[in-house]
Amino acid sequence: MRHTLLALTLAASGTAAQPDAIFVNATVYTVDEAFSVAQAFAVEDGMFAAVGTDAEIRSLAGDSTRVIDLGGMTVLPGLIDAHGHMAGLGQLQLGVVDLSGTTSYEEVIERVVERAAQTEPGEWILGRGWDNESWENKSLPEHADLSEKVPDHPVWISRVDGHAALANARAMEIAEVSAGTAVPEGGEMLLDIEGNPTGVFVDNAEALIGRAIPAGGASGADLILAAQDMCLAAGLTGVHDAGMGPDMIEVYMQLERDRKLAVRVHGMIHGREAPKWFAENEPYHGPFFTMRSCKLYIDGAMGSRGAWLLEPYEDRPVGPEGEPYVGLAVSEPGFIEEIARDGLERGYQVCAHAIGDRGNREVLDAYVRGEHRASNGFRSADAPMPATLADSRFRVEHAQLLAPEDIGRFAELNVIPSMQPTHCTSDMRWIEERVGSVRADGAYAWQSLLASGVPIAGGSDFPVESHNPFLGLYAAVTRQNLDEEPPGGWRPLERMTREQALRSFTIDAAYAGFNEKSVGSIEVDKLADFIVIDRDYMTCPPRAIADTVVLSTWVEGTAVFER
Ligand SMILES: [Zn+2]
Repeated sequence: MRHTLLALTLAASGTAAQPDAIFVNATVYTVDEAFSVAQAFAVEDGMFAAVGTDAEIRSLAGDSTRVIDLGGMTVLPGLIDAHGHMAGLGQLQLGVVDLSGTTSYEEVIERVVERAAQTEPGEWILGRGWDNESWENKSLPEHADLSEKVPDHPVWISRVDGHAALANARAMEIAEVSAGTAVPEGGEMLLDIEGNPTGVFVDNAEALIGRAIPAGGASGADLILAAQDMCLAAGLTGVHDAGMGPDMIEVYMQLERDRKLAVRVHGMIHGREAPKWFAENEPYHGPFFTMRSCKLYIDGAMGSRGAWLLEPYEDRPVGPEGEPYVGLAVSEPGFIEEIARDGLERGYQVCAHAIGDRGNREVLDAYVRGEHRASNGFRSADAPMPATLADSRFRVEHAQLLAPEDIGRFAELNVIPSMQPTHCTSDMRWIEERVGSVRADGAYAWQSLLASGVPIAGGSDFPVESHNPFLGLYAAVTRQNLDEEPPGGWRPLERMTREQALRSFTIDAAYAGFNEKSVGSIEVDKLADFIVIDRDYMTCPPRAIADTVVLSTWVEGTAVFER
């Protein structure tokens, strides 16, 4: 064991004898139940051994105690991103062309041309992050211009939400995709007026190109370690990695054995691989890596009109065959029900991506049916009782658009909404175009959810959005973009308070990963994971939250990042 529960805790005030180190002269937001503020704390054996005033903590120091004066800076618990993609973040560091921030299709092409000039012809060029909603011409791109400028390299570049991607002609040729190719259910291959592929593939249709791309390049471990460095520098000591295969689980297990993990990762196995995994493996909960969860999808994303709605899209009411267009179900609700039953019986958490109001309702309904089947199904006399939803911390990932009558169901069922505040401030520009003003009342309904009595697990969905958690905290408390627009915030009644936002990125995210007893707040007998930042998060002007600089990041009392 790297740490022991026998930390030297004395007296009721939580004082320690001869701590390894004391940290003094700071404003410490402990994020304990009472949201207390301290000045100092002591660390012993990697755990918080005492928390209190400067005088109290200084009095504990012995001859061998290290004294670290934080110079009046602010301390927060290590932040936790409850929904990110570590390998995807690592890829940005190691080779995938970053197309975020581009303001036109021409600029996207330019960046790809630049990369092509440094890449052998025939080699794949992968990119991600373009967003036609931030271009002057907002229509989805067509491949012709890209194919003309980059004819010799297969190119595959994802839209910012990852739910649509553009291929050039060479890529479609290698993947043997043409107008007549059968498109998988839950996906769409966009066609131009002549019936030829435009190069844009939505949701499940992305596999038509994806399967032609050779694996290779950086190893899984390289990607995770590159992402880990980025997370630690941003103040994240925990990440819930929302979707991985058995190969990546093995990578994490090996990194854990080699003691190379410094970020605590709550892993979710891909839904399609969950049944086999559940049957063959007990839930695993190690010090830095857990595998007791899975990630399913019910629908796509709002930006690419793949989110599954109860009523048609405002800006695309009719589908290709003249039917009312309500988006896409990318998997059967019955599949989610089946995994929910299985998860409850075997002690696994289920997390389902749901964005549209229909998608969210279907997931909640499927969880309820799964619970019913688990508790009423045949069980041999010696089999353990299956768990219930009330004690299993099932989650909905994103929960972006909710029908008013579904908001209270999260608390009732004890299903945790895992939400990404920066998605709100990215999408608020166009969400009313998609769903109209009335339905938009149920979009990113943070305060309504919190008021109903359910915690929100905060995250970013990196690399879809930046992994910088201070951008998430800023978005949560303002519902404004970085130019402080719109004035007062978009649908400001749904803003979080600073305390709520900080809880969602610390203790509530820890709860969503079954780790709230070990991390998520600065309290005696918890692991000493914390960060030191350059400004007072609770009192600085709102806009300043976004520019917070992380001075150092500590895991179990050891500095793992210092600026
Ligand atoms: Zn995601």
